[in-house]
Amino acid sequence: MKKIRVVIDPGHGGEDRWNRGPTAYIEADGVLKISKYLQEALENTGHFEVRLTREKDQTLSRKQRAEIARDFQADLFISEHTNAFNGTAKGTEVFYSVERPKDLSLAGKMSRAIAGHFRTSNRGAKTRVTAKGKDYYGILFYGVLYHIPSVLLIESLFHDHIKEEQILLEDHNLRNLAEVQAEVIMEHYGIEKIKQEAEELTVTDLYRVQVGAFQHKENALRLMQALENDGYPTYLVSPK
Ligand SMILES: [Zn+2]
Repeated sequence: MKKIRVVIDPGHGGEDRWNRGPTAYIEADGVLKISKYLQEALENTGHFEVRLTREKDQTLSRKQRAEIARDFQADLFISEHTNAFNGTAKGTEVFYSVERPKDLSLAGKMSRAIAGHFRTSNRGAKTRVTAKGKDYYGILFYGVLYHIPSVLLIESLFHDHIKEEQILLEDHNLRNLAEVQAEVIMEHYGIEKIKQEAEELTVTDLYRVQVGAFQHKENALRLMQALENDGYPTYLVSPK
């Protein structure tokens, strides 16, 4: 089966490291971690081929980022961001292109899932346009210009909100955030989650019961045979 191609764009970076939280969070670094976790989560399913627009702290224009998605022939192009407003606004919002009404569904599911996971406000799926009615965000504008089928810009949480900044400062939260995003993308493309937990349960989560202790090995073997005949798996532990 042909793999689904995804390009993930960690926003900002390089000369653009100005967006920060009230304490220690830097958006350029936070979204790079989210993007790497998302790449890992998607690739682990075996159904996605994923590229990042940057793998390190690096300056890229919006056009260059979209060109990477175009050259990789991405089916889905996602720009990762965290939000800022006035310090009291919080929650999740996901932007899609005004030229791509069909992306409303994926954007809406994405926003709902992230907000639900972190129990914050779901601000929902949105478009944002210039006075001329074009996409305000360069990533969406160029993504559509280069004919990428689906383009999203995710604003996961508000890094200038003191509580949401604390969430974003924990690596395990960034990993969970990426996993929530991966699940939405998988569901959108009809890919089932691997049922790993069920298998692990049958192999490791067993209680074993001792049914005999004997001085003579023949007696132990006789009981084992009787148990085997009744359909119980057995094993023998012997002293040195
Ligand atoms: Zn941003």
